[in-house]
Amino acid sequence: MSHKPTITVLTPEFYSYGALLIAGILQKHGFSVKLQKGFNQEINTDIIFLSLQSTIHLLKYQEELNDINAFKIIGGPVTLSPELIFRCLSVDLVVVGEGENTIYNILRVFEKKSILEKIETSTLQGSDFKDLEGVAFHENGKIITTSSGSPASLDKQLSLVPTDISSENIRGANVYLETHRGCPGNCGFCGVPCFFGRKVRSRPLEDILREVKHFLKKGAKKIAISGGTGSLYGSGKFKNVDEEAFIELLQGISNLTGPKNLTIPDIRVDLISDDILEAISKYSNGWVFFGIESGSDQILRHMKKGITVDQVREAVKMARKHNIKTAGSFIVAYPTEEEEDFQDTLDLADELMLDDYFISIAEPIPGTDLGDEVTDLPLEDNILFHESQKYKRHNLSLAEERALDLMMESYVFRSYPVPMTQNLLDNLIAEVKSQGDHIKSVTKLIKNPKKGQSE
Ligand code: SF4
Repeated sequence: MSHKPTITVLTPEFYSYGALLIAGILQKHGFSVKLQKGFNQEINTDIIFLSLQSTIHLLKYQEELNDINAFKIIGGPVTLSPELIFRCLSVDLVVVGEGENTIYNILRVFEKKSILEKIETSTLQGSDFKDLEGVAFHENGKIITTSSGSPASLDKQLSLVPTDISSENIRGANVYLETHRGCPGNCGFCGVPCFFGRKVRSRPLEDILREVKHFLKKGAKKIAISGGTGSLYGSGKFKNVDEEAFIELLQGISNLTGPKNLTIPDIRVDLISDDILEAISKYSNGWVFFGIESGSDQILRHMKKGITVDQVREAVKMARKHNIKTAGSFIVAYPTEEEEDFQDTLDLADELMLDDYFISIAEPIPGTDLGDEVTDLPLEDNILFHESQKYKRHNLSLAEERALDLMMESYVFRSYPVPMTQNLLDNLIAEVKSQGDHIKSVTKLIKNPKKGQSE
């Protein structure tokens, strides 16, 4: 091969914004880029860049990746642990952390070796990129991770929007559009500060609006804004929300999409104000999603969530004052959660009577505090592996039992109670089993002894 390298940017399940952005940047620089969702089509480019969102993908897509004949690069949130990637997948290179600059530099090296040095690029290996920052590769049985590069500039970014974006459905939105990166929060279960850092970096409003127009022109209708936590847009310091910047952001996007098509997916209970809630009510579809996590102050402290149960109560009350619908996310079976802590969570859910609930079993993301804690916790002390006595006939674990109990409670104690039919119960059992299986696999994977070594 002696030509400008071609690349497929592949996103396995949905069009992640990160993948669209990488594809947009490479296209802007004149590279031939194909954007692909799923593994159904054959890959016939020199390089495949696969953006992976979740640790379970490392187990789920092993076969598909093995079958691909191209130089394979992995990026996305899973790169918090390059060792794990190399242990699971047969790939050439990992782009560690934010990928925009690195992937561009990789393609430049490819181009140089192919066109100037006339090297057959099918012979290239990860170690040929050792002079680049922010990559990891295998060399002589070791995993080498090069020094991390400086954070990417968020100015003038414009993603490559696929032609079928109007049919994408990511929790009700066609796209989760990036408004800022980083979160000064320190929640032990969350990969955002580990991946993007704790300093908030916001995109210029005019760039965001230009990109919203670009998405709408290509057929997208429903836009969700994403960043660590919504109201941190424009913020300089933690708990120092720039209300004006956030409100201007909502107003600007809403003018283009219409309020009912704009969603603000998540927000911290301690980063709201009456003005912010008023703007959410006026410029968005009128929902807030609070990260509540637990009804136990002891567990909130252990998670380093930085909020109290009383702050949760106050936030829900404030949102209701502005006629905003409230949804809450809860995490059960966090390490050290005792039966009384879980009972406090059930009681809080009953008390709040939210409009919607998202309930998850604690998932240990490698590179986070929770990831480390679960890695160190013997399986026999992890309630994900303890048999439930209450739901023995459904073959659930104690962690799954808690998730199921909270899910059932959340249907009965919500603003519009939903009767618990057999069908709904069956669906909930299937949901907790699927969550439990997934997290058990991830837990066993991260507890395996490390094979590689990092430099
Ligand atoms: S506030 Fe939200 S985004 Fe920030 S660390 Fe906590 S969970 Fe993650």
